[in-house]
Order: sequence, then structure tokens, then C-alpha cells
Amino acid sequence: MNTTAEKSNLITGNTGEWEVVIGLEVHAQVASNAKLFSGAPVGFGAGPNENVSFIDAGMPGMLPVINKFCVEQAVRTGLGLNAQIHTRSTFDRKNYFYPDLPQGYQISQFKNPIVGEGEIEVEREDGSSFKVGIERLHLEQDAGKSIHDMDPNATYVDLNRSGVALMEIVSRPDMRSALDAAAFVKKLRTIVRYLGTCDGDMEKGNMRADVNVSVRKPGGPLGTRCEIKNVNSMSYIVKAIEYEARRQIEILEDGGQIDQETRLFNVASGETRTMRSKEDAHDYRYFPDPDLLPLELEQAWIEEIRKTLPELPDAKKARLMADYGLSAYDAGVLVTKGARADYFEAAAKGRDAKLIANWTINDLLGRLAKEGHDIDDSPISAERLAGMVALIEDGTISSKIAKEVFEHLWASENTAAEIVEKHGLKQVTDTGAIEKAVDEVMAANPDKVEQAKAKPQLAGWFVGQVMKATGGKANPKAVNDIIQKKLGV
Ligand code: ADP
Ligand code: MG
Repeated sequence: MNTTAEKSNLITGNTGEWEVVIGLEVHAQVASNAKLFSGAPVGFGAGPNENVSFIDAGMPGMLPVINKFCVEQAVRTGLGLNAQIHTRSTFDRKNYFYPDLPQGYQISQFKNPIVGEGEIEVEREDGSSFKVGIERLHLEQDAGKSIHDMDPNATYVDLNRSGVALMEIVSRPDMRSALDAAAFVKKLRTIVRYLGTCDGDMEKGNMRADVNVSVRKPGGPLGTRCEIKNVNSMSYIVKAIEYEARRQIEILEDGGQIDQETRLFNVASGETRTMRSKEDAHDYRYFPDPDLLPLELEQAWIEEIRKTLPELPDAKKARLMADYGLSAYDAGVLVTKGARADYFEAAAKGRDAKLIANWTINDLLGRLAKEGHDIDDSPISAERLAGMVALIEDGTISSKIAKEVFEHLWASENTAAEIVEKHGLKQVTDTGAIEKAVDEVMAANPDKVEQAKAKPQLAGWFVGQVMKATGGKANPKAVNDIIQKKLGV
């Protein structure tokens, strides 16, 4: 599958085709109420410097203590990424000076990360899929935030984020288009949300990506990459990669070369610009943090965690396909959020699962998306949707009338049965009434009757007319049967 996709993803330049190569470093904030080494609270929306302990403020003599819950979340995530869990890992100091880093170093894992190699399967919009290798996942603490735009003469520092636990998930350079990179981040987000290890809320900054981009002639050696720092939405990831790939291609086609550098994505202009080149790369002088012992995990504890893993999206998708006969596409849409699949399964109990899937995906999710919502705040409960599908199944309403019932379900709290009763939407199966409507249409169109007798395909026109005359409430099969009989075809 990869090869065909690579072909179609090539970018055409003046000198022919180019291939984009992308690898991502995703920072996922651990869903923990306390920081990685200080126990201070973590919370979005706290006032400036309200969530700061002496450790986070880098006061001399303070000692970090590892938060076991955060370690557990890293292990869970590693297991969810089908990755190697290292029973021994170490913490290192990454030394640099910055006003929002009062310790003068960030505690991270350099040589020995807690999680090693893994692999995940990523689905594209068109239903095809590809694999992305995971190089590692390590734990590290976040830095504070410098605020440069509050005062023309001063920079403010907010240390609320200082010490917050992050999981840095590093991919292999396995992606070949901007859309594939976004699809990878989406899948990663789905997995950590299923696991409950990260909220995955990019708007709140608890998931963000450093995007590495290079270009090469198809089949050629890997090109020099540039790293675009801290991209914090799916659409920015796509835009930043598309811009950066074009920029590199233009330079190479003009006979230039790419300097390995760190760049920033400008949201307003959609361009990337140099932040620092690799020449002035910092020497971080990594060394083992003497305040923290190596982290040693017991295999039995890892197995305990493994036992508590939920059914993950790939397994859930396979089960929905096997148990309910859903297509890969439908199952794929439903598992992108655990709540969607839960809704589907609740509604599908005892009902025609394919019908439930269609209504959930096309009508409900479509409508919710239009209004900027998802299934969690659906005004139509699974039970009420199932009630409507039950009425389609037993012939009380046609699929067409169901669209109308759906609108009432959306706008009221009534059950489908109540709505059908109240608005007189019951399907007319009374053949006498249908026959009367057919006779009326035929009497008004004698020429069409003659034509249809000679050319049976024209019978469909009568079905349409009768449906119209009955306000769409006639049972289409009964209408069809009666028309056929009367035309003698
Ligand atoms: P560093 O530690 O200097 O950031 P790594 O080798 O760990 O470098 O790579 C960091 C990220 O860059 C990884 O996600 C990797 O997949 C990606 N990467 C490496 N080489 C390339 C390349 N030639 N083009 C695009 N991405 C790359
Ligand atoms: Mg890097």
C-alpha cells in the first residue's frame, strides 16, 4: 500500500518529481493532576504562577521525586504503541539557559528512554492504510512560558507549565505526505485518548508536534531535514509541511543546498522561517541527573498494566466489522472516538446494525460536525435513534420519512414513535388508499399510461407521482406492486 501512495504523493517541480519525507516528534502531556517531579497541581486556566512549587521554580536544594502515576501512563502508552518497554531507564539533565527554565536544565531521558521501538497502523481518509515506526517514547518535564507581548519593555514568565509531565513520542521518517503526517497524529491522538494517558487537546497545548521535513528524488538517499518546532494543530501540520517541502524543492532546483536548521511556522503567513541553524546548535551537555536514581520497573508491574488496557481502536474496528458486518470505512469512522463506537453499539443492540451505522455516520455525525460538535454532546441519544430505526424496520415509516423524523428527534426530546404519532407520519400500507391515489394519477395522465404499457421502465414515473401525492408516506413497495398490476406489466 505504501508504494502506490508514495507515487501519488510526489510533488512536481521544474526538474521532475520529488518525494517528501517526514518524521515527527510529538509532545503529549500526561493526563495527570500532578507534575512529574514536584507533586504541584496541573490545570488549564489557573492564574499565572499559581501552580508552582519550589521545585518547579528551581529553588536551590530542592529534590525531584518521580511521580509513579506518570510513569504508569508512559508504560500504558508504550504498550498501546506496540512498543518495547524498557525495565531500566534513566533521567538526564539537558542544560540550557532560558528565563522560563529556572533550573537551568530540563530533566529528560536521553540515552535510555522508558519506551523503545514500536509501530502503529495509520488509516487515510480514503480507507487505505500505512505503517509508521515508533523510535522511542521518553518522559520529560515541560518548561514554563515566556510572555513577550504583554509589555513593550518586559518579558513575563509563567511557571505553571514548568515541570508538567510530557511524553515525547518520536516517529521514524516513515511519512510521505503532509496528509499522512496529519493522519499519523490523529491516530496517535486516538490511541492516547483510548488509553486515557493524554487528553490530546491540541488547542490547549497538551499535544503538539515538532515536524521534520526533507525532500529527495524518488528512490534517492534521504535529504537534509529541517525541523519545524511546536506545531499545534492538524491543519498547521499540513500547511507547514506543504510550505516547507516547496521551499526546499525551490532551493535544490536553483542549485542550492538545504541547511539543517530549526524553523518556526508562522500561522498568519503560512510560512516557515529560520529559528536557529544547526551550526549554532546548543551543546546541551546531557548528563545523568544525580538527583534521580535509574528507573527500574518490574516485569510483573508492566504485565499488571497490560491487563488493564482497554480494547484499542484497531481491535475495536476488527470486532465491529466481524460482529456487525460493517465495512472497513464505517468501522474506521466509528472507532476514531471511543464514544462513537459506544454509541453505535448501544443503538445497534437488537437492530439492523448496518442501518444504525448509516444513520449514526451520515446523518448524526454529519449534522454534529456541521454544528461543531461530536457524539459526546449529541441531542439524540442512542436509544432514541434506535427507536427510529425500529420503526423503519417494521415498516411504520419509510427511510424517506425517517429523515423528517430525524429532524424532530434533533429538535425535541420526544421518542420517534411519539413524533410519528404527533405529526401523522405513519407509512400508508393500506392498499385501498394507495390504490385510490394510483387511480387518480392514472386518470389524470392517460397518455402516460399508454406509454408505460408499451415501455414498462416508465412505471417508475407513476411511483414518483403517487409518492408525491401521498406526501411520501405511502409504502413504496406497495405502490410499486399496485402500479405494476394496473399497467399489466
Ligand atoms: P534529533 O535527535 O537531532 O532531533 P533524530 O535522528 O532523533 O534527530 O530525528 C528526529 C526526527 O527526525 C525523527 O522523528 C526522525 O524520524 C526525523 N528524521 C530523521 N531524518 C529525517 C529526514 N531525512 N527527513 C525527515 N525526517 C527525518
Ligand atoms: Mg529533535
